[in-house]
Parts: sequence; C-alpha cells; structure tokens
Amino acid sequence: MIVRRSVRITGTVQGVGFRPFVHREASELGLVGTVRNDSDGVLVDVSGDECAVACFEERLATRPPPLARVLSVRSTPVSPPAEFSFDGGFVIVTSDGSAAPNAAVSVDAATCDACVAEILDPADRRHRYPFTNCTNCGPRYTIVRSVPYDRAATTMAGFAMCPPCRSEYDDPTDRRFHAQPNACPDCGPSLRWSGDVVGGEALTHAVDALRSGAVVAIKGLGGFHLAVDATDERAVATLRQRKSRDDKPFAVMVADLDVAATMCHLDGDAVAALSSSVRPVVLAPRRNGCAVADGVAPGLPDLGLMLPYTPLHHLLAREVDRPLVLTSGNVSDEPIAHLDDDATARLAPLVDGVLGHDRPIHIRCDDSVVRATGVRTQVLRRSRGYAPQPIPLPVSSTAHVLAVGAEMKSTVSVAKEGLVVASHHIGDLEHLANYEAFLQAVEHLADLHGVVPEVVACDLHPEYLSTKFAHDLSLPIVEVQHHHAHVAACMVEHGETGPVVALAFDGLGYGTDGTIWGGEVLVADLVGFERAAHLRPVAMPGGVAAIREPWRMAAVWAGGAAVGDVVDGSVVEAVLGVAASAHAPMTTSVGRLFDAVGALLCGRTHITYEGQAAIELEALARSAQLPSPGLEGTVAFVDGVLDPTPLVHALVRDRDAGVDRGALAAGFHAELGRGAADAASRVAVSSGIDTVVLTGGVFQNVVLTEVIESALLERGHRVLVHEQLTPNDGSISIGQAAVAAARSQ
Ligand code: ZN
Ligand code: ZN
Ligand code: FE
Repeated sequence: MIVRRSVRITGTVQGVGFRPFVHREASELGLVGTVRNDSDGVLVDVSGDECAVACFEERLATRPPPLARVLSVRSTPVSPPAEFSFDGGFVIVTSDGSAAPNAAVSVDAATCDACVAEILDPADRRHRYPFTNCTNCGPRYTIVRSVPYDRAATTMAGFAMCPPCRSEYDDPTDRRFHAQPNACPDCGPSLRWSGDVVGGEALTHAVDALRSGAVVAIKGLGGFHLAVDATDERAVATLRQRKSRDDKPFAVMVADLDVAATMCHLDGDAVAALSSSVRPVVLAPRRNGCAVADGVAPGLPDLGLMLPYTPLHHLLAREVDRPLVLTSGNVSDEPIAHLDDDATARLAPLVDGVLGHDRPIHIRCDDSVVRATGVRTQVLRRSRGYAPQPIPLPVSSTAHVLAVGAEMKSTVSVAKEGLVVASHHIGDLEHLANYEAFLQAVEHLADLHGVVPEVVACDLHPEYLSTKFAHDLSLPIVEVQHHHAHVAACMVEHGETGPVVALAFDGLGYGTDGTIWGGEVLVADLVGFERAAHLRPVAMPGGVAAIREPWRMAAVWAGGAAVGDVVDGSVVEAVLGVAASAHAPMTTSVGRLFDAVGALLCGRTHITYEGQAAIELEALARSAQLPSPGLEGTVAFVDGVLDPTPLVHALVRDRDAGVDRGALAAGFHAELGRGAADAASRVAVSSGIDTVVLTGGVFQNVVLTEVIESALLERGHRVLVHEQLTPNDGSISIGQAAVAAARSQ
C-alpha cells in the first residue's frame, strides 16, 4: 500500500549533513518526496510503500549522521496523491533563508577519519591542508557570527569557494554538501609563521621550532595555545616561567590512542572520551615511566591527555612526533587569547614563534576537560565540543530565561520551551577581559537561540559582577541560592523534578543567612529548598587570604599548635585572633575543610592554583593501600550539625606520632564520607525521600564521591552524581535557568 507522511525532525539537525542523509536513505528504500531545512529543524515529505516508509522513519531516529542530535521525530499522515509515480525521485529543497533561530547551532567537532585520510594523502588536493573539514566535522560554534547558519554568517564569509569546492558544496551526494566552512589550499585560509612565512612552509617552521625546544603559540579552534615538547624538561620549565604558572598541571596532546595508552592507564570510558568528536582533555592515571617531563604535572598521579581535533593538530602531532604540552595561550589566569592582534601583542613576550592563520575565531572556546574515574566519566569543564548543545529541562515553561551564573568558572545559559543552552567556559569574572567575554556570551547565546529574555536568574551573592549585571537589566529577577542552583543542575542532568535530599559540598556560596555556605544538606525540588543540616561553621580568617593560604583554615580547625612548625608562631597567633573576633566571616565550606587537612597532611600551606591543597590531599589518599585505623566514629552528626573536629584532631595526633600520611589522608576521606552519608541518609529517612544528590565542586574528588555513594547505596538510597554536567560552578547557570523555569510555570 502506498502512504504519504510529513515527518518533522527537531534537534541539532542543520549543518550536520542531515539532508544528504535523508536523501540517501529515502533513495535506497525507493521512496519519493522532498527534504528541507526550516525554522524548526528538518521537514520531510515522503511517499512510498508502507513498510519502506516505516523503515525510513526508524532510520531517521536510529542512525543519524555523527554530528546530528535528534530530539524528536514526529510523523503525521498526509493523503497520498491520486496517481503515485516514482518519476520525481527524492529531492533536497534548498532553504529559502528564512530559517529562524529555533534550530540549534552545532558544536565544534573533531576532524573525521575521512578528512584525516585526505590531509595525509600526498595525492589528494587537500594534502597537509590544515583547514580541511566536511559536514561530519570541523568548526561550528567558534566561527558562527549569527543565524541562520550559512557561510555568510560565519568567519568564512571572506573566502570565496573555488570551482572544485563549490561543486562539492552543491552536490547532495557529496560529503561536503552545504559544509559551510568548506575550503582548500586554493581558496581557503592559510597558515602564517610569525607573520611572513605562509602555508605548508609555515607548518614546517613550527615543527622545527617545537622539535628544538622552543615555545610556540598555535592558533587553534577556539583560541591560541602555547605548545612545547612535553618530553623536554627545559622547554616545559621555560613555559612555566614565562606563563607565570608554578604548579598547575598542563595538558598533553598525543598523536593517537596507541601513544596515549603508553602514557596513562585507560579504561573503556577513557578511550571513548579521548576519541569522541568532542575531544576533551581526559584526566587519567599515569603509568610508571610515562614519557613526559616531571614539570608537566608536578606531583600528581593523573595526566591530562588529548588527541588531535583539528587537521593542524594532526599534522603537528605527526610531524613533531613527540607528545606536546598544549596549554591555553595566556598569562596565568587571564582569558585565552583568540583575536590575532591581541594574541600577537600578549603572547609575543612568551613565545619564540607564532603559528597563526587568517580564519578568524568569533567565540573563544577553551578545551573541555573530563575525568575518567574508573567508575564513570565526569565532565569537569563543559566547553569546546559541548557548547552550545541544548539540554532538555525537566520542566517546560513558556518564559524565555537568561541565567548569568556565578563568578568563578563562569558560564551563562538561556532557556525556552523546555530546553536550556549553556555557553562555553568563560572563566573568573573578576578579570576585565573575562567580564567582557561574559557580556559577549550573553548577547551571542540569546541571538543564536532566538531568546528574548523575560526573566533573569542570578546568584544570591550581592557582590558578584553577574548578580549586579542581572539587577541592571530591569527584568523580573529570580535570585537562586548558590547550592540550590548546584542541586538543580544535577536534577536537570538526571531529568528529575524532586524532591531530593542533596549534599552540596563546595568551595563558597552565599547563604540565605549571609554567611558563606559550602557544606549543606538540603531538601530541594526545582522551585525551592530547605537547609536541613550543615557542616559545623568556623571562621575564615582573612576572607580570600584563607583561600590562598590553607594553613589559616588548618589553624582554625586544628588549633595553632598543629601548624606551628611550618608557619611562624606569631603570625598564627595573629590570625587566630582575627578568627576569634566577631567580624570574622563564618563558613560551613567543605572545600575549606579539605584545604585545612591538605595543609596539615601535605604541608600545602600556600596554593598557586585553585583547589591545589584538596587535589594533593586526594592524590595522597589514593597512594595509600588502606585507610588508617583508629579514626572511626570521629565525625559526629548532632542536631543537624556535622562536626569533623574530633577527626581533624585525631589526624594531627597520628601525624605527629609518625603514622603514614597517605593512610591518614585516606582515613580522612573515609570518615568524613561516612559522616556525610549518615547525615544525608538520616535527613532522607526523616523526610520520606529516597533520592540523594551529590553536587558542588568538592564532588570532583573521586575518592570522597566513591565513599559517600557506596555508603548511601548500601543504605538503600538512590544516588544521583554528575556526569555530563560538571559538579563545579560551571553548571550554576544551568541550575539557575531550571529554577527560574520551574518558578515561572
Ligand atoms: Zn570531515
Ligand atoms: Zn577550494
Ligand atoms: Fe559552587
């Protein structure tokens, strides 16, 4: 029987080769009709044998092209024409340009195998051409200036396609049909070495420089990287010194999975993450004798590895033939450079050469970071390759929402019609250039997704620049408590509306009582929350100084004598005096507790990057075979207060008695985790809720997460942990958007 149907496909289905895919499948099944892009995605009109049409519809949903993200396939019957014929065949109708911004812009995707094969083939016209791409791969988000997504709206607008490229672009059966950034050596962008050497020769110069130990700036997909030979101790040291970066680990790019496997222990998840089209930095345990310089990740058991994700990276990795440090092109914590003039000016003093090119980057986008924990793969920074992939919200609301995030690890989000779209990683807003990037991101994201904000969601913290920005918009405001936003983000990830019990363990977040929270047990749904319990509040002497100098928190938790041998006694006395005064800020932060114990057990009295003491403490715990005995029952939970003071004192006692510090660090994780799980479980039982959410930056700690998760599972609770959305402040804007959507339902 002949039937005819109208099929609507929504999601990320434009600019990803979806129409050629539909054309191929329909033709193969002997169907006739049309396929077109429109404002809502892709629309198919299909006629033919009933069984073939059913098979066709199934293929649309189950085997879309690699970069497509199908959200829905809806089919409605249309009355077939009186006389059916196969004469017209199946036709791709080119868009009329009216595609309004409802169809998602695709993410930047790693070079596909077919394109890699071309650049490595001396007989191919794209041999060694660093800007090769097709509908299955290449730049998207970083080059899009506006929508609808076509070449004129990208930073490729200034390059006119040559006849061979144009015919690929126009051929519905070609891999480059409507590949907007399509280019070749004759018509596309070209490399530059330090301004004057152009093309393949520029690449050769950069390769030679890297092989001889130079520091080279390389313009990538979302910004400039600084690169050195990762096996060259002197080159790595030079990079650290020029970048003013003391200890923070560097990521390393290697040519392929085989090389990666010689450097780190990789399980199936790690391999999948490394070779995915996102191509994030993957943190994995390094092998003994791993061939990188000690200065790459000093003292840490994990190494951040990444595979090449642009043709330029593939060529460099092969031709240099050594692992390369690839770190963001900036000084210290400034934003990554992405504009040519800015990069040349800022990076020139740091490097021995610049490998640039003339394809502009519109939106700077840092590399994403995931951690392969052995239990799960957890996204720590959701940026290049993830942004701007829409995420379904567990609530539908008609309101258009703008959510401006927190202050550190800033992202912004927009939401409408049951979807939220988060920006790339923007960074810490206190840097002026980052704040400017924040303003650009707000405008760009709203434009790309056709969001005209009716509600703005922000943090409760009155001093955050994002909060101030939100209040200046003269729109209705939804203020979302920081940890409620963390919990909401985890609920979004798992499609939950609550209520849930949540452990929100974090660095800092402004509480409803004006103190600094970060060790909360909340009972929450998307609309609101109650604070059911919390860590024992302590003073944070010196405010931000207490973050930079973990010994201060150690003195508060353990007493002055415990830090007396590493910090001058009179300084300790003075700081404890400040702590005892009525003006000292109070905090329940678990992040600061980790700092304290990191200072006590690792001697990390001062930090050079965020979270350093806690990261080193976790590493120390992982080095132990077993947790130290004799610490059991030292974390009390009484009247809604979780108090690890006896645990901290026991750690100091055993440390001074010469007990192995690794075992003590493991014991700290085990006992704190047991106490926290007990607190959450008791709150869950008394409130009749079985689901427990683990969220906040502290849950980047794999050891602690494992202890708490297994203790809660043992007690029969359901546990929700972050995987795709980071547990740190990068997810705050997503949580804020969900709360605002839930409240405006
Ligand atoms: Zn490709
Ligand atoms: Zn060309
Ligand atoms: Fe936070």
